[in-house]
Amino acid sequence: MKIIVHRGIDQIGGCITEISTVKARILIDLGQNLPNGEGVVDDDLASHEAIESITQGVDAVFYTHYHGDHLGLFHYVPDNVRQYIGKVAKRVALCKHRQLSYIKGREQQSKEEIAKLEGMGELSPGQTITVGDIKITPFFVSHSAYDAYMFLIEADGKRMLHTGDFRGHGYLSKGLLPTIEKLILSQGKVDFLITEGTMLSRLGEKVMSENELQRKAGEIMTRYKNVFVMCSSTDVERIATFYASNKRLKYRPLVCDHFQKNILEIFTKSAGEHTPLFRFDEAYDFNPTNTKLLDWMEDKGFCMFVRATDKFKDYYQALASRLDPNETILIYSMWKEYINDNSKHAVQRYIDFVSMFPYMETLHTSGHASADCLAKVCNLVNPVLGIIPIHSENSASYKNLPINEHLQQIIITSSNSTGHVEIRINQSL
Ligand SMILES: [Zn+2]
Ligand SMILES: [Zn+2]
Repeated sequence: MKIIVHRGIDQIGGCITEISTVKARILIDLGQNLPNGEGVVDDDLASHEAIESITQGVDAVFYTHYHGDHLGLFHYVPDNVRQYIGKVAKRVALCKHRQLSYIKGREQQSKEEIAKLEGMGELSPGQTITVGDIKITPFFVSHSAYDAYMFLIEADGKRMLHTGDFRGHGYLSKGLLPTIEKLILSQGKVDFLITEGTMLSRLGEKVMSENELQRKAGEIMTRYKNVFVMCSSTDVERIATFYASNKRLKYRPLVCDHFQKNILEIFTKSAGEHTPLFRFDEAYDFNPTNTKLLDWMEDKGFCMFVRATDKFKDYYQALASRLDPNETILIYSMWKEYINDNSKHAVQRYIDFVSMFPYMETLHTSGHASADCLAKVCNLVNPVLGIIPIHSENSASYKNLPINEHLQQIIITSSNSTGHVEIRINQSL
């Protein structure tokens, strides 16, 4: 058997892992490199030729979740390669791509992307899919994308756990350790743990729970009447945080645009079936000519989900004259580096957008596992043959985590061979 980390050992994003036996070959994620601050993507795999070459002989691609750094290159994949993504994740991705199709000049590309997405196989938690002699079983994880999975991959008598992106401090994280213990380890030992390490380069960062975030959001909403929220439109847990905080302040409408409302409907019909926290039944589609809604917003205040686009700039301008600046705030609920002028991750469009608002507060917690959580998962999984850190700018520092000593000895960050498994790790730098 062979494990190839095409990308991820020294970068966040652009994730691609390959697992193959003599009979079958699969990819876990086919992500695009993250864009730079100008929104430009530098990715030598972003072409039909490059993806045809990397998927040559590949039977199937399995996506852990819908973020571009895991799913981004899906539309280049030839039709003879089967692709799989979570059932709800597929609907969210489709909704997003339908929205993108309204951008001028993108119609044809969107058409192809939508057709590819529609053809994808759907994953459900615990349902094994067999590709030749490789078995893949998805298990639900909490992440800033809904319907995200870690995969148990069984092949050639070996068991591998690929975590994808995950975290331990979300509403949906409670099942993380019990799932590993009761559903995965109870069936046998895991040989290799392939795990994300996003937070390894941010070891000092304190991680707030989503519950704590909700409490703080409530405080801000009590202080300010008019609340704009800039957060990921497909992060069900974050949306629930603000939705719940706003609901507590009775009579204030929750406002968003049509796209966000469609996403909320998908979440309500999926995640909302299991818990009221994810039921977003009362959301109002903003329209600057809807004077009834505007009067209500002016009178009682509101919570409005916004994105850094021209449309939302116009919406804000349409509202601004009716709002007291001293009662108006933007809650910025994304990674702080995007709006940090001095950061290499700074996004000018975001910086310009947030500067429009009279007041701003940052309220965010990571979608990724803290150092503490990574260590807990490593110690619990206790893999026999190796830990392969991916999705990290600093994989080597995995050994600095508080993990059991014998596990520190089996961290694999360069090509290697162990237990009849060949491991190839491509460095991008
Ligand atoms: Zn990622
Ligand atoms: Zn992600």
